[in-house]
This record gives sequence, C-alpha cells and structure tokens, in this order.
Amino acid sequence: MEFAIKQIKHDIQDHRLGESDVSDKSQTTISTPRTYASSDGSSNLARSIHPSTEDVYIIKETNGKGLGMFAIEDIPCGTLILVEDPLFALDTRCWSAEQLEDKINELDSHEQERFFSLHSVHDLPYNDPSDEYQHQWASFKEARQNHLAEVAHARSSGKKTASSIFAANMMDGSDEESDWKLVLCVTAARINHSCLPNTHYVWNDANKAQEFRVTRDVAAGEEITISYVYSTERYEKRKKILAEHYGFTCHCPACGNRDNWSSVAYQSYDRRFRLGELDRKLSSNSYLANDNLWGRIRDRILYIKLLQEEGLYTPTLGTEFGRVSRCYLSFALAGEGGLEQAIDYARSAVKVLTNCVGAEHINNVYEQKWLHAIESHGLNAVFVENGVLLLRGTNNL
Ligand SMILES: [Zn+2]
Repeated sequence: MEFAIKQIKHDIQDHRLGESDVSDKSQTTISTPRTYASSDGSSNLARSIHPSTEDVYIIKETNGKGLGMFAIEDIPCGTLILVEDPLFALDTRCWSAEQLEDKINELDSHEQERFFSLHSVHDLPYNDPSDEYQHQWASFKEARQNHLAEVAHARSSGKKTASSIFAANMMDGSDEESDWKLVLCVTAARINHSCLPNTHYVWNDANKAQEFRVTRDVAAGEEITISYVYSTERYEKRKKILAEHYGFTCHCPACGNRDNWSSVAYQSYDRRFRLGELDRKLSSNSYLANDNLWGRIRDRILYIKLLQEEGLYTPTLGTEFGRVSRCYLSFALAGEGGLEQAIDYARSAVKVLTNCVGAEHINNVYEQKWLHAIESHGLNAVFVENGVLLLRGTNNL
C-alpha cells in the first residue's frame, strides 16, 4: 500500500503540470455568445445565429479543404464562440430521404438555398454497410439497415442530392436527456475536422441550439476545428471513417508521418493505443467488479494523463476527474486520507466541463453539486451512483 500511495502521488504531480494548460484558464467568459460573422454569402442570419456584438471568427477559403472557420483574434480557452439554431432536426438516426425532403420543404427559399450551397459527398466508392458493420449488421432493425443502405447509396450516386448534403453535414444534436437527434447547422457545417480539435460542440436542449466552445487557447488566424469522429479513435479507424463517410484524408499533426518516434503522429498513435486498451479495461465487467480502489485510481489517473498529453479536452476528461474524486473520497471515508485530492479532482472536473459544455450542462451541474458537497461537508458527503447526491444522514441535495 505504501508503494502504491507514492506511485499515485507521483502520477498526480505529473499530470497536474499538464492540467494547468486547460483548467487554469477556465475562468474565462462562458455564458455570452460573442460572435457570428459570416462570409459564406448569407445576409439573413437572424434566425439561425444568436445575436452578438463581437466577431471572433470568419469563414473563408482554406488551402485545399474548401471553406473553413478561422479565428480573427486570440480566443481564450472556454469561450463560447457560436450558438446556432439548426435549419432543422431529424429526430431519428434512421432518417429516410422522404423525412429529409419533408424537412427541406418546410424551409423558406433562402434557407433552402443555404442548405443546397453546402458541401456534398456523392462521389465516393460504394461501401456495402453490411460489410462495414459486419457482426452487428444482423442485430440491426430493418429500418436501420434500410437507412444505412440509403446513405451508402447517396454517398456514391454521383449526384448531389439532399441526402448526400445531409450525410456530409449532419451533426449529433442529442443530449443526456433527449432521444437521438441529428441537426443541420449551416454555419457550423463550415467547420473542418481535426483529430486534435480545438473546439467542442454540444446540444443545448433548453435553447434548442448547438453550442461551440474552444477547449484551448486559440490564436488569431488559427483554424477552428472539431472532430468528426469519436475523439479517442485510433488512426486506422479515423482514416477509414473519414475516407468512407466524408471522402477526405486528414493531414492534422496526429495523422502525419510516424517514421520518427518523437513525432506528434508517432506519440499520438502510441497514446491512443494505450487509451483504447485502458478504455476496454475500465469498462469491463471484471474491472467494475474488482474492488481494488488503488488500482482503479492509478488506471484512471493514467487515462487522464494520456488524454491531456494528447490534447483531448473533452467532457470525457471532465468526467474522469469526477470519478477519481469519488475514488479518493472512498479512501478518505476508509480513513486512508484523500479528501484534499477528492476536492482538487472535483474542481478540475468542473473546470474542464465548463470549458467544454458550459456551466449549465447537466453533467457539469452534477459535478458542481458533488464539489459543493465535499467542499462543504467533507467526509459527510456520500455519493450515490444512481445520479443522486446525498449527504450522509440527513440532507438530500
Ligand atoms: Zn487527423
């Protein structure tokens, strides 16, 4: 136990150095939408873009990637740079061409013009979805199978259609409490992909809008990027999805040359491999059944460290901070010490989540309640896994 404690303390110091990059800058403006310049030819943005007095980005031609969004001033980590109402949402992930057509017919002519001006993917090789999904395919419902076949056809039909445009530009508009939803935001559709993105988006169901926050400091002139794939995905999988679904090859630093072990791409490849291994371990039933708390903390701290080194400042990072905080409180309750660490980690959870999803997002509110509980009540704070925070004995938060 003695050794384990020292090792964990070493790991904490190690990753805390990196943490300052994200969390110390989190006290920046969070709640006020700031900008919404547009150079994409649109003059009527009142419906889709929330009002603002300051412009922090511009949409312009990139080198070889079509249009893209660029910062026109230094933007601090955590800044909300765009809040956009979608042109429409499809409340299903098995959308059909008919459902899409109905939505487009509801738009006015100007909105339709904006929709049809977006990038389309329709010249890709046909990818049979039953091959792509292999073992899962038989378990899909017929509607999902039909949908995937329809989208695969739209991507390879050689014709620009509503489906080929939507397939290239749809975004996840689901949140923790709503069913699956796909949204189409015409301004955000101009934001290009990076495997090391500087911006995170999240659906705000209360405002019915997609929100975009920069998750690290962005310099004037830098391109604003989001990830089109699950953020910790490994190189081969990213390459395949981006080629087959979007028709491009990513040239971000993580996708560069891996000849040299000290290159960003080599290091990224190694880290994502380790993140994948840890991910599997941390979510396995045998791991969850194991009550070796020290082992859990060590693995989760390593996970946090790898995410930070990779520069993936996403809600997953914030959630991991919260989990480690709760592990430490378990230690503290067992008389092993750790209340101070529990509070530190809870603060980090709130900071990262505030930068990524804002102060009012349900996950962040949850972590804020947790932080408040242990700051105010220390060892009397007890965590209940079903999502309710209780204070030992009496109060119910
Ligand atoms: Zn990349």
